[in-house]
Amino acid sequence: MHATLPLLKVTDFPAIKRHKLETLQVNLGYLCNQQCLHCHVNAGPKRKENMVLETIQQVIAFLQKHRIKSLDLTGGAPEMNPHFRTLVVAARELDVHVIDRCNLTILSEPGYEGIAEFLAEQRVEVVASLPCYLQENVDKQRGKGVFDGSMVGLKKLNALGYGKANSDLVLNLVYNPTGPVLPPSQVELESDYKNILQEKYDIVFNNLFTITNMPIKRFGSTLISKGQFSEYMQLLRNSYSADNLSSVMCKSLISVDYLGYIYDCDFNQMLDLPMRKAGKGKMHINDIKVDALQDKSIIIADHCYGCTAGQGSSCGGALG
Ligand code: SF4
Ligand code: SF4
Repeated sequence: MHATLPLLKVTDFPAIKRHKLETLQVNLGYLCNQQCLHCHVNAGPKRKENMVLETIQQVIAFLQKHRIKSLDLTGGAPEMNPHFRTLVVAARELDVHVIDRCNLTILSEPGYEGIAEFLAEQRVEVVASLPCYLQENVDKQRGKGVFDGSMVGLKKLNALGYGKANSDLVLNLVYNPTGPVLPPSQVELESDYKNILQEKYDIVFNNLFTITNMPIKRFGSTLISKGQFSEYMQLLRNSYSADNLSSVMCKSLISVDYLGYIYDCDFNQMLDLPMRKAGKGKMHINDIKVDALQDKSIIIADHCYGCTAGQGSSCGGALG
């Protein structure tokens, strides 16, 4: 049971509009082999919500019809959707760049052997969460044994060529703070990660993305239960940087839920703030007219301050 989050009141976050659509971010379901404390989708091993084949085919039909640069697959653990490979293969045949948001431990999970090799064959970019290079911090946030499992996953990816110099297999890591604070400088932290992972574990990767924790779902509930919600919200507001507003990810991305409904971003999806048709019903991927999306107003609420605070935050890390 999660506490109600006080985010959906009228916000003073500045109005923003869409630009050209470049990325389709698809949430393949909430099933995950992990159950992390900061998870903004409340994913876990007992969740039953998964995108069915019919909806996967609707996503493929959308990609066939429109020239979209990137397909960004998320979850849960997207690889746990039984139609994951079907979607990836179809997108790559259309020459769409595919990103897999991978939790790393799934690569060693029984029943998912061969996923790393499949990703390499399909030239899929891997974006993997690793909230710290210290075992204690990772296990505290993501669960016991997750750090060791992550190192095994990273070594597997490196052995396939991911993250290596002169390889086109891209491996990016994601850092998010373990508590209610903003991430440190992305440039400096990336350098620390590179040095420590290389020296201690002989692991290499391309870039580190620092992402601000959103005060929603499991992380938001934790803040409320510890009495830290208002303080964290105030931190996000006080750290507002107008420079980040021009590059928030919702300007060029739409997020699709496991049922095929669409949202301005993954966070709006989790807060059940769908994009709406003229008749006010929820907009489905089958309803999208890409040209009509341009200049459409984006649905905003107080959580949007999470994207503009400090150095900014998006699925691709700091903004600007
Ligand atoms: S944060 Fe990622 S790995 Fe952790 S429970 Fe959520 S979806 Fe799974
Ligand atoms: S939370 Fe979503 S809608 Fe709000 S600024 Fe960030 S990406 Fe855009």
